[in-house]
Amino acid sequence: MNILNTIDAWQNWRNAISHEKSVGIVPTMGALHDGHRSLITRCRRENDICVVSIFVNPTQFNDPNDLNNYPVTFDEDRNLCAAEGVDAIFMPQYADLYPDDYRYRVMENRDSQLLCGAHRPGHFDGMLSVVMKLFNLARPQRAYFGEKDWQQLQLVKGMVEAFFMPITIVPCPTVREADQLALSSRNRRLSNDHRQKAAKFPRLLATNAPTGDIIRLLEKDGFTVDYVEDFMGRRCAAITCGGVRLIDNLPSPERQE
Ligand code: AMP
Repeated sequence: MNILNTIDAWQNWRNAISHEKSVGIVPTMGALHDGHRSLITRCRRENDICVVSIFVNPTQFNDPNDLNNYPVTFDEDRNLCAAEGVDAIFMPQYADLYPDDYRYRVMENRDSQLLCGAHRPGHFDGMLSVVMKLFNLARPQRAYFGEKDWQQLQLVKGMVEAFFMPITIVPCPTVREADQLALSSRNRRLSNDHRQKAAKFPRLLATNAPTGDIIRLLEKDGFTVDYVEDFMGRRCAAITCGGVRLIDNLPSPERQE
């Protein structure tokens, strides 16, 4: 497995791949878990070459504390990737990926302003910008994204269509713990108590109650609620539990408010 830390090393490696081979990419921010693993397994199966990028992208963090506390577990990440047969890990530095220091960016002006976008100003501009950079560098045929980040997935699909990028976006189902909490790198930051309590989040979201009722019940359980809203066929929600922001979504119930 190749670990490529600079743009030059990456370009040399990428340019040596024959045009006949298909390339798949799984963009991540590291602290890999079985959710990421499911994307990697599928990417490995469907492409000749499987690439994982690991980059904690500062431009998509509106909260410096969240960025500074984002878990970094590179040794474990490398082992997981090697065990899954990944061909290369691309892990650039900010200065490499942003030679313009983020003067140029990709913006979406409708759906990126809703839900997470309303609570995390600039988040989706940063996300779309880094994904476009990674696509341009990796030149993949396929890119794998989790349905856990439903709004992100829709925005990436929209960007690829809007800019005629010749890349298939492959959506992958959310991987959950036994108690239904969606796996997330941020779950590592939950205390034992908060981890137990967090299981109420997917359980309440799965009820067919109106969104307003779900918000009230979450708040009664001590969560801070950013939103619970139906969006493009899914019931999407974001909360804070013990200082850790958690998001999730499930298919919307037939009965709407
Ligand atoms: P992240 O490292 O959190 O930016 O996530 C990288 C990719 O993994 C994104 O496409 C996420 O949607 C996806 N992902 C994260 N958690 C899960 C999960 N529990 N199930 C499936 N995909 C996930």
